[in-house]
Amino acid sequence: MGTIGITEPNAGSDAVAMSMTAALDGDTWVLDGQKRLIDNTSVAQVFLTWAKTDPSADPPHRGVSAFVVERDAPGFEVDTVYHTLGLRGLGVGSYTLDGCRIPAGNLIGEENRGWYYLMRMLEIGRTATASLCVGLAQAALDTAKAYALERRAFGTTLSGIQAIQFKVAEMAVRVDTARMLVYRAARLIDAGDRSDRESSMAKFWAADAAFYVANEALQILGGIGCTDEAPVERYLRDARIFLIGEGTGEIQRLVVARRELEAAAAAPAPAVPAS
Ligand SMILES: Cc1cc2nc3c(=O)[nH]c(=O)nc-3n(C[C@H](O)[C@H](O)[C@H](O)COP(=O)(O)OP(=O)(O)OC[C@H]3O[C@@H](n4cnc5c(N)ncnc54)[C@H](O)[C@@H]3O)c2cc1C
Repeated sequence: MGTIGITEPNAGSDAVAMSMTAALDGDTWVLDGQKRLIDNTSVAQVFLTWAKTDPSADPPHRGVSAFVVERDAPGFEVDTVYHTLGLRGLGVGSYTLDGCRIPAGNLIGEENRGWYYLMRMLEIGRTATASLCVGLAQAALDTAKAYALERRAFGTTLSGIQAIQFKVAEMAVRVDTARMLVYRAARLIDAGDRSDRESSMAKFWAADAAFYVANEALQILGGIGCTDEAPVERYLRDARIFLIGEGTGEIQRLVVARRELEAAAAAPAPAVPAS
């Protein structure tokens, strides 16, 4: 079981602001710093950890490297395992490396190339997270439809009420569009192509869809949906986290907008007067 350690107390969305450092001392790397909000901290044996190997690099991302830190490395300590709103099986926690010594060979790839490995990994991670959101949204929709077909009110089933049918349609289109965006990003990754725009689109759309669909599913279930007699309250709590984890919705929108505007600047459309 492994982890991906990027986030720190003072570096989240702005990951390159990380304070974790790694310095070579003979045949060992010495790492110092703290990572927080890291999946699997409770159980992992292997902690993939990003650190600054050249803190004065300009631009700073050219001074970042990636390492494999094992749980039994001297100077490694788990600080906290959080109680989270949702995704409670993730064992999200924080860990500190205090003069933590690891073998020189635990550097991943080349020194100071860690940022580039991270960018590619995030394309895959965001697409994978989007696929989790699609599964969650589909499960919420399926639960809501099954309930609507059974539950009776005002002499009919909920499924016979047009207001509920409209909800089902809105939910279904969000699940399907999210799934299509995931497939498109995954195809690019399988082909070895760059997918940052498509992965970020898939991630924010699918996370928004999962949250919307889980919320509407809970509404269709009414009061019992608020209890743990049905799975939708958990879907809603889990979905809320996907709006943040693996990069927030705001950051995904920035990635998409940057790529859109770069492309527009490179191939401008016929000019429309700006004023
Ligand atoms: C359950 C869970 C699991 C996680 N697992 C991992 C993990 O395994 N590994 C890991 O490294 N990290 C993990 N994270 C951390 C996650 O990636 C960060 O929480 C996320 O990137 C946001 O960073 P932050 O929490 O520091 O928020 P901040 O970066 O402080 O942002 C706070 C708010 O400000 C907004 N904001 C910040 N900058 C901008 C901007 N330029 N424009 C617009 N809005 C902005 C953000 O969108 C957000 O809404 C996990 C988080 C959670 C909740």
